[in-house]
Amino acid sequence: MTSIAENTASCALCRRHLLVGEPARLYQDPASKRFLKVCPLCYEQADRRGWRADGRPIVAVHANPPRDHALREREGLIDRLRGQLQSVEFDLDQVRSALAKAEQQAGELRTVKREMKDLSNEMRRRDRELRGMADEKRRSDERAAQAESAHRAEIAKHHQVGARLDEQTAMVERLESRVGQLEQELEHERRRYGELAEARRTEGDARQVRRMALEAFNRSPHVERVVSISRSLGDPLVNVAVDGCELPRVVSICVAWDISWYEYEVRLDLYEQTVSVDEGRRGDDPRDLPAHRLHPNAVLRSDRVVLTMQAFGVGATG
Ligand SMILES: [Zn+2]
Repeated sequence: MTSIAENTASCALCRRHLLVGEPARLYQDPASKRFLKVCPLCYEQADRRGWRADGRPIVAVHANPPRDHALREREGLIDRLRGQLQSVEFDLDQVRSALAKAEQQAGELRTVKREMKDLSNEMRRRDRELRGMADEKRRSDERAAQAESAHRAEIAKHHQVGARLDEQTAMVERLESRVGQLEQELEHERRRYGELAEARRTEGDARQVRRMALEAFNRSPHVERVVSISRSLGDPLVNVAVDGCELPRVVSICVAWDISWYEYEVRLDLYEQTVSVDEGRRGDDPRDLPAHRLHPNAVLRSDRVVLTMQAFGVGATG
């Protein structure tokens, strides 16, 4: 046997020379891409190694190897070419498969790109919506802030008005109090004026003035002297005269006997409610006195001097 015959007609695994008519099978080793002949006894081992069976079994026909040297050589060449062809076809399959896979991936990529574009559009739309909502929220916040501010201003105004009302109320109360005070003062002045007017009217009434002056005189110790002298000299002639118009009113009481006379001065202020009785001049001869001082308009009755009935008459001399 030649080396070619061995190369072309032995099992790649057990190295046994293939028998005539034995169906060898062509396998490809995926690692080396080489095509190898395997005898029927080693099929399973080739399968276990992960080799891939290629086509139908080949029946090697070597009736007479030495004589059919050229034939075996040609057969070997055909086998190698077939192996190379199968290798190329295998590579081509792989390329086709890779191409199909690449096309599929490109399709998937296009789908993914389309989906990403859709997602991007969706995100932009959501973003616009979010911005719109943010704008709306900002406007709403601004409106709320404005409303709050207006509300605060309203409250402040309300407090100011309240404070002004309080001030005005206090002022009205002060004014009312002042008015009340002034009315009281006015009333007091009216009363005082009334009293003063009454006093002055009474003071202006000569008859009243004389009567009051005599009452004061009758309460004074001077009346006792008049009573005492009268016991020896008899009833005196008494003239009561109002002197002048000034205040206090001065009333002069002249008491005269034949050999003696006395003058007393009574000072009256009805408003001040003061009265004084003083002894004035005195003398022995009534003729020293002016005649009108001897015009009698009062008399001594027991222990007091009283005006005569004439003295109460209207138009009596002053
Ligand atoms: Zn074998």
